[in-house]
Amino acid sequence: GANGEPPLKKHKPSPSPSHGPGAASADPATIQRQRQALPVYRLQARLTRELTSRPTLILIGETGSGKTTQVPQFCHQAGLTKTGLVGVTQPRRVAAMSLAQRVADEMACTVGQKVGYSVRFEDCTSTQTKIKYMTDGMLLREAISDHLLRRYSTIILDEAHERTVHTDVLFGIVKKVQKIRRAKNLPELKIVVMSATMDVDHFSRYFGGAPVVYLQGRQFPVQVYYAKQPQEDPVFSSLVSVTQLHQTAPANQDVLVFLTGQEEIESMVKNLRDVGKDLPGCPRLKVVPLYASLPVQQQMEVFRETPPGQRKVIVSTNVAETSVTLPNIKFVVDSGMVKARHHQPGTGLEMLRVQKISQAQAWQRTGRAGRQSAGACYRVYTRAEFDAMSRDTVPEIQRCSLASVTLQLLTIGVKDVRNFDFLDRPDAGAIDGALRELQLLGAVTSAEQPELTPLGRRMASFPLDPKFARAILASKDHGCTEEVVTIIALLSADIILLTPPSNREAALAARQKFVAPEGDMMTLLNVFRGYRKVQKNKEWCRENYLHERHLAHAAEIRRQLLQLCAQAQLTVGSSGQNTEPVRRSLAAGLFPCAAQLTRDGHHVTVGTNQKVHIHPSSTLFMTRPACVIFTELVQTSKKYMRGVCLVDPDWLLDAAPEYFRTHRLHVES
Ligand code: ADP
Ligand code: MG
Repeated sequence: GANGEPPLKKHKPSPSPSHGPGAASADPATIQRQRQALPVYRLQARLTRELTSRPTLILIGETGSGKTTQVPQFCHQAGLTKTGLVGVTQPRRVAAMSLAQRVADEMACTVGQKVGYSVRFEDCTSTQTKIKYMTDGMLLREAISDHLLRRYSTIILDEAHERTVHTDVLFGIVKKVQKIRRAKNLPELKIVVMSATMDVDHFSRYFGGAPVVYLQGRQFPVQVYYAKQPQEDPVFSSLVSVTQLHQTAPANQDVLVFLTGQEEIESMVKNLRDVGKDLPGCPRLKVVPLYASLPVQQQMEVFRETPPGQRKVIVSTNVAETSVTLPNIKFVVDSGMVKARHHQPGTGLEMLRVQKISQAQAWQRTGRAGRQSAGACYRVYTRAEFDAMSRDTVPEIQRCSLASVTLQLLTIGVKDVRNFDFLDRPDAGAIDGALRELQLLGAVTSAEQPELTPLGRRMASFPLDPKFARAILASKDHGCTEEVVTIIALLSADIILLTPPSNREAALAARQKFVAPEGDMMTLLNVFRGYRKVQKNKEWCRENYLHERHLAHAAEIRRQLLQLCAQAQLTVGSSGQNTEPVRRSLAAGLFPCAAQLTRDGHHVTVGTNQKVHIHPSSTLFMTRPACVIFTELVQTSKKYMRGVCLVDPDWLLDAAPEYFRTHRLHVES
């Protein structure tokens, strides 16, 4: 039915684990020695006792103490996998995949056999799978088709301290499922919550006073250094710090740098590589990036042992804060910044914004330097700036758009979303806003008494933001599902158009032949058509500065979305060269993200009147389109729209007449 589980790509288990994260230590004896040295190992007997006798358990321990890799295996050894899978949730796909690889190495199997993983658009499990690492988003998706999570005997909510929206919602779901399964005399659902921070009373209380087990971690002292004055450009200052460290510290003392995002990281990696070339007498410098969207093979580079006489510098997002354990880090350089999703209540607009980290995050980052021996952390901010940071990180559920999870909750059968048993209740206004957006998209009958509509049910069957799902469903009426699905697949994959700083001009020249006057979404469509025409030729991608792997990933996402369309009985038509139906369909979903040109020549968001700018990376940068939709807002010095597409204001009116009656649209401009 419309609620069917999305058809996922099945990977053949890879023949050998040699490319995996454990590659450096894949020798079984070494692996076993490493395992036995982990703090969690000493507690196996106690944990097994608690796991088998109690329904819920909370486990606290520093990053690197062995929670994520060992506890699922303890569950397996304790016999919990006899009645179902052990599911382990992770906030990030990187972590889910690399952990599955590591644990497969430990259990001497290949990924996809006894140990597997499942992330959006990629399922690497089989009928033999007992332990399944998965993103929290995937488990939430599974709950749509399997309300009682019957395939699982145990759910481990890992990295609970990160408090992602999906993990937060899962708290409520697993608690409810545990209760219902008990009431119906079904096999018990074991719940394990694992966290790297101490503020756990909250978790324990939520689960009716569940027992808490503390793990004594191994942590060596870390000397903290602050900047003397506030730094104007934390990225540049981080570069300076790393360069200084590199010139003074002995070889094989590795450095971990925390920055905010992919572009920044790639440019830092390039700068550091250049610096490394011109420093005579210093150890050889090996610089590796780490961020969530990095291809898996490249991610694995961070785990590889540094050859003697060299130095590794890992430049990472907050991925390296807690969810992956990096060996051998001696120095941490902390820019003090993080990119986070933010939602402005009442506007329906979600934004990526670079902001200061919390003190809790600063300490997590610092801790990375003291795993193997005493280390040092260089904070690129002053002591006073540190003191001014908020103590804890605000849970994501209290700062991001809830439209997507609200739709999922309704689909799972949670009728009264406002009174759902949240671990920390989001702002009532945020839930109302989400319900209003769903109502405008036609997914629920009314915001006050939300009932899922048949359209809403169909929207939920796509693992996409409801706005995108709506656009796909609208494309049927305009006969252009093929194009809309392709564009959404491209937007769901990572950066396709490359603009390397060293070859900027050449990249932009190569791009010209794809550029569509209607903007970024149509440009991407042209790129994909070209890619198909040359039969996915890698050389062609290189010549045209296109990210081949991301394009291949987009092609895979597209294939799966088309399968979902077939399941939803959506005929897949094409509008050929005519882009109007395509843009109309996109507008039908993305109308809450629209902007128009004002008389004084800048753009404001429709309805909410915020001044916004076209992002310099957009093909419409430097032009002044009267009315556009966009895929995301990014706040740096200004608010920038990315993924911009030219539309006709009338289409917005058609898409949501009710909304635009109350949110003035100046059709005349
Ligand atoms: P925790 O969840 O408590 O932070 P983990 O179980 O993730 O701890 O990690 C425990 C240890 O397992 C690490 O210190 C490291 O030695 C090893 N390990 C984890 N992941 C990998 C990996 N991908 N490659 C190699 N070793 C790993
Ligand atoms: Mg962990």
